[in-house]
Amino acid sequence: ARRQAVAVWTGPGRTADGHPVALLANVADGSSARDASAGQVEGVGLFRTELCFLDRREEPTVAEQADVYAEVLAPFAGRGHVVARTLDAGSDKPIAFATHEGEENPALGVRGLRLAADNPGLLERQLDAIAIAAERTGADTWVMAPMVATVQEAADFAALVRARGLKPGVMVEVPAAALMAHRMLEVVDFLSIGTNDLTQYAMAADRLATDLAHLTDPWQPAVLQLIAITAEAGRTAGKPVGICGEAAADPLLAPVLVGLGITSLSMASAAVPAVGARIGSVTTGSCDEAAEAALRALSPQQGREAVTKVLG
Ligand code: PEP
Ligand code: MG
Repeated sequence: ARRQAVAVWTGPGRTADGHPVALLANVADGSSARDASAGQVEGVGLFRTELCFLDRREEPTVAEQADVYAEVLAPFAGRGHVVARTLDAGSDKPIAFATHEGEENPALGVRGLRLAADNPGLLERQLDAIAIAAERTGADTWVMAPMVATVQEAADFAALVRARGLKPGVMVEVPAAALMAHRMLEVVDFLSIGTNDLTQYAMAADRLATDLAHLTDPWQPAVLQLIAITAEAGRTAGKPVGICGEAAADPLLAPVLVGLGITSLSMASAAVPAVGARIGSVTTGSCDEAAEAALRALSPQQGREAVTKVLG
């Protein structure tokens, strides 16, 4: 029966009782954006800009960057919004022209937005390029920063983004940012939870370490608590809070996330139909129950079992 539901789901993202949950795509370049736009996605929730430049020794010029970004924005002009993430260089994504070499502990080092501080103009040039691409394509373009830990970082970033007429947000990947989500939302327009890194940092377990997979699991109740705090801050502020980590692609977790108050789920576009079908099969009431059950569990396994029971 489930397979049939997947086949007939045609979007948009809605619970059985009509509560909207935007289902968005994670993309890496123009080609993946065009592929995604052929499906039912309602926009792009995560454009990983650093993936465009993995093979570049030198920083691309503003004009070169604008061309690359415009390819991603163009398929979504007039169709939802596109969230461009500024360079997430460092740690597991080395970018020759930005990453710090030789850090002892790169996951806790100068990565993501932190690179802006000692690389004058790098962030500003990228934002200029994104603004040019947004203007050229007419796409509704939001911009967010990765690896934000403090409200001051969010405020400084937001000022640069607003100065270019774009909509600023930050990723919640560091537990400190989740705990301060209500204050983050005083300075930005939206939050996007990166569950891959949020889980890594909450559980103090390397996201790439396969022998720690029992810890790097977004069903860990501690991770769900951080998501709950962040989503609640969004509800109070009346601002969107999405998920753009791998957790968004888990059809069993989707009702939990909706119950916690998440407003959008962004994932590899191939995962969207299964998640859309699942959300379409549950009411907001059962999402609330699923969220409560998952939060009460003491392990990911307990959580999965409890939610499976609630959803029937
Ligand atoms: C995340 O950390 O969940 C995320 C979406 O960013 P990335 O996987 O690119 O680090
Ligand atoms: Mg991340």
